[in-house]
Amino acid sequence: MKTITVFKGDGIGPEICDATLQILKAAKAPLAFECFEVGEAEYERNGKLIPDEAYASFEKNRILLKAPITTPIGKGFKSLNVTLRNKYDLYANIRPAKSNTAVKTPFPDVDIVTFRENTEDLYVGVEEKIDENTVHATKIITRKASERIIRDAFQYAVDHGRKKVTCVHKANILKMSDGMFLDIFHEIAKEFPTIASDDKIVDNVCMQLVMRPETFDIMVMPNLYGDIVSDLTSGLIGGLGLLPSCNLGSDYAMFEAVHGSAPDIAGKHIANPTAILWSACMMLEYLGEDACAANIRQAVDAVLQEAKVLTPDLHGTSTTEEYRDAIIAHLQA
Ligand code: ATP
Ligand code: MG
Repeated sequence: MKTITVFKGDGIGPEICDATLQILKAAKAPLAFECFEVGEAEYERNGKLIPDEAYASFEKNRILLKAPITTPIGKGFKSLNVTLRNKYDLYANIRPAKSNTAVKTPFPDVDIVTFRENTEDLYVGVEEKIDENTVHATKIITRKASERIIRDAFQYAVDHGRKKVTCVHKANILKMSDGMFLDIFHEIAKEFPTIASDDKIVDNVCMQLVMRPETFDIMVMPNLYGDIVSDLTSGLIGGLGLLPSCNLGSDYAMFEAVHGSAPDIAGKHIANPTAILWSACMMLEYLGEDACAANIRQAVDAVLQEAKVLTPDLHGTSTTEEYRDAIIAHLQA
């Protein structure tokens, strides 16, 4: 029995998180949960977006299943996602986008894993007002952070029987920062002679992803491109409701959906919980509970394939809870 920490989040967070926990319990996942309310509601109650006990729980358990959290705009808060990634040095953001035969899209052959560097680039949030009409933002790229994310991408390729890693960059314009990232990529590629490697400029990647997504395998890139390009990959496979992720550091691991808290549909019981559920499957696999993850994945596939009980983002008319129950009904004993 492994104890994990759960942050329930804002907006659709509690709805999709509850559905996921119930499916995990129904699948007899060998997990105990320490759940915390975090985000805006918690701030209104106790003056903290993330209570100290929630941080303490994560520091003890080292594994976090996190629902989306809204960072209040205009109150001077640093993004909570960025805060968590930095505080626990969760440097590798891994986002697998795979076409599902049951979800009809114009792109049936997508199987792409994005490795997004998670701690630096423009996300350091260092902006400076030079004068009334001029603002500078700082982009930071370091050898240490670049080496570890690139090495992880190649190691993942080896471990998962993948064939190629593509470096995504803009080194033609950002010759020093992205230039260094690209140089390091070519150095590390030599350590992995069995894995093919190439590099592409980010704008070209966006075009190629839509024209020929099947030619991509693993992609590795700095933080900002990773944010944007991985949303694009979610669009290829049927939308944000289907893109899971994990954030790994050397000591901590955090699993979350790529999407945000979707305030436009919060409380309506129409949110699709698949992205956070698949993130929970990644968590089970991380813990070596592959059979339990596989059972949940086959149940999701069966429900998607039947296409009788789907949430509105997948052109269905069912609620989050009906979708949850359909998945539970397809679990194998
Ligand atoms: P963030 O800044 O946190 O990334 P965002 O502004 O990109 O947030 P999201 O919250 O990710 O926005 O939502 C983008 C759109 O996708 C919204 O219209 C939202 O309703 C929809 N969406 C996101 N997640 C889901 C989901 N799980 N199920 C259904 N629709 C979703
Ligand atoms: Mg977004």
